[in-house]
Amino acid sequence: MASGKIGVSTKDLFPIIKKFLYSDHDIFLREIVSNAVDACQKLKVVSTSSDFNGELGDLKVEVKLDPKEKTLTVSDNGIGMTGDEVEKYINQIAFSGAEEFLEKHKNDGATIIGHFGMGFYSAFMVSDKVEIVTKSYKEGAQAVHWSCTGDPEYTLEEAKKETRGTDIIMHISEEEKEFLEKNRIETLLQKYCKFLPIPVIFGKKTEWKDGKEQDTDEDNQINDTTPAWVKKPADLKDEDYEAFYNKLYPGADKPLFNIHLNVDYPFTLTGILYFPKIKNNIDVNRNKIQLYCNQVFVTDSVEGIVPDFLTLLHGVIDSPDIPLNVSRSYLQSDSNVKKISSHITKKVADRLEEIFKNERPTFEEKWDDLKIFIEYGILTDEKFAERSDKFALLKNVDGKYFTFEEYKKLIEKEQTDKDGNLIYLYATDKATQYTFIEAAKAKGYDVLMMDGQLDTPFMNQKEQKWEKSRFTRVDADVIDKLIVKDNAPELTLTTNEKSDLEEVFRSQTPTTDSKKTYTVSVEALGEDALPVIVTQNEWMRRMKEMSNLQAGMSFYGEMPDSYNIVVNGNHPLVNKVLGGLQPVIKEKIEPIREEISKLESRRDELNKEKSGKKDEDVPQSVKDELESVNSSLNEKRSERTSALTAFGKDNELVSQLIDLALLSNNMLTGADLTKFIKRSISMMK
Ligand code: ADP
Repeated sequence: MASGKIGVSTKDLFPIIKKFLYSDHDIFLREIVSNAVDACQKLKVVSTSSDFNGELGDLKVEVKLDPKEKTLTVSDNGIGMTGDEVEKYINQIAFSGAEEFLEKHKNDGATIIGHFGMGFYSAFMVSDKVEIVTKSYKEGAQAVHWSCTGDPEYTLEEAKKETRGTDIIMHISEEEKEFLEKNRIETLLQKYCKFLPIPVIFGKKTEWKDGKEQDTDEDNQINDTTPAWVKKPADLKDEDYEAFYNKLYPGADKPLFNIHLNVDYPFTLTGILYFPKIKNNIDVNRNKIQLYCNQVFVTDSVEGIVPDFLTLLHGVIDSPDIPLNVSRSYLQSDSNVKKISSHITKKVADRLEEIFKNERPTFEEKWDDLKIFIEYGILTDEKFAERSDKFALLKNVDGKYFTFEEYKKLIEKEQTDKDGNLIYLYATDKATQYTFIEAAKAKGYDVLMMDGQLDTPFMNQKEQKWEKSRFTRVDADVIDKLIVKDNAPELTLTTNEKSDLEEVFRSQTPTTDSKKTYTVSVEALGEDALPVIVTQNEWMRRMKEMSNLQAGMSFYGEMPDSYNIVVNGNHPLVNKVLGGLQPVIKEKIEPIREEISKLESRRDELNKEKSGKKDEDVPQSVKDELESVNSSLNEKRSERTSALTAFGKDNELVSQLIDLALLSNNMLTGADLTKFIKRSISMMK
């Protein structure tokens, strides 16, 4: 029997392991099982050489629980170790490697947790004692038994073992007894070992018989040893990709597309990414891309490795070239990782372009679901944005799809304003913006549907990228002002009539919702346009929408929504209001206006006398008169407003016209709607 001490300064090792790895004890099983898998793989390699005369047999790894003995054992029939090899690989290399690793990362617990590099050691996180019983594949090898209780002392002695391979026997400590539970182990194996390349067996499959769960004769194999991503794309059909997706995310909806990654230079990377169908945010958080290293599950937090916008995708990435035993920040600056990241972006763009080119109808069919990923990519990844010009689509309100270039061609002629700006009209809601959409169509314009979560920032970005281009929502202004052309209709009213009417309509702007403010203007709309239209300023509205997406812009988010009530001065019904107003104008407004104009010219004279003089040189009489003229002016103006308001306030036609405009925007609700209905009925009597 041999015994010894592990390393020289390793005596502090175990407490450090326990402390640092405290929060992620799970990984010990991954480490021990993948060592066992490695041992089998190594034997496969050795078996091809001439000095191997044994039988390879069915290579496998078995995980066994013995609750009575309180042990968890991982056995393999792989390469095994001789006594010398245990001495070398376990006592020297393995331990010294770990020591070096801990020394390097002693201030960075997070790095150590959950990453490779601890290997065999991690067994001590959960065990009071670990034993190795192993027999090398080499002819005539003597089996050995190694045992260590967690302090640096170990024993190594000859043992009896008939078969080739290694048993790692972990005596699970009292605090970690959860690892003696069948379900716990099964869950861990499912998480880490689901796609290992050598069969991993955990007990027998069970069935319900005679009212209880009983073992069958069939091995409970945890893993699929040849998952889809290790196969050749040529050997896989759509169904195979879908079946694999289902295995990864049971119960998730059929994905939209898949992308099979297969790179061997300048780094090795395989994997399958899927564009998922996202129903809600819960799915986004639940199903994530899984990162593997030679089929061993590592993590499902791939930030930094996969470009940000692609973290929304699903699937697996497998690469032995991603350094795993380093911190996240290091990972993000690693040049290999950067290459991987940009390569994945390129591959995704290639694939999308290919599908677009070869199967445009399918691509269009799935566009609505794809759009969020692609817009996210366009917004956050310069390279991807460039590439996407080839396949990104715009959809109009009639459900037709166009590439950017196609769409530009479509609208160029009709939708260029007098200053040469190309105006992209869009709607966000077909129902509430119906009248505006119709008005735009009647003009020969096309209207885009922009109701996606990222459409506002998308449009902001494109306005900056595309020369002389602007996006304007159909209800941002009256039709002739949406795209201003030289032949705009002229107002048939006088300036006075215009401002009187504005006052009349202002008397009835809605006040019930303090989160909405209204301005009123009388403008010249076409003959066929509606008498009154409610529009919403594009700029203000978009600021508000952006503030909902971005922190630090909440100022805009709290501003009320501001609407413009546009009265069509050329409409017969508006002229009817003006007709009704005529007596008031004659009797009250004209005289007031005359006085106002007198007062204004007197004020101008007085101001002239004042101008250029120092305050003390202005005669007191001038100052006094100016003050009295100004106050009379104010008085007269409010007299005018009162007279017009008095007329407008109870004018049913005005109420009706405003309400109809609100109604067509879906903005007339509650008590206001009831009032409108009652009024409509009484007007019909
Ligand atoms: P790593 O696996 O990263 O090399 P480990 O600490 O996990 O580090 O293991 C150290 C070494 O011990 C391995 O490289 C291998 O040579 C040997 N070893 C561990 N487990 C087994 C096993 N089940 N069968 C054969 N050799 C093993």
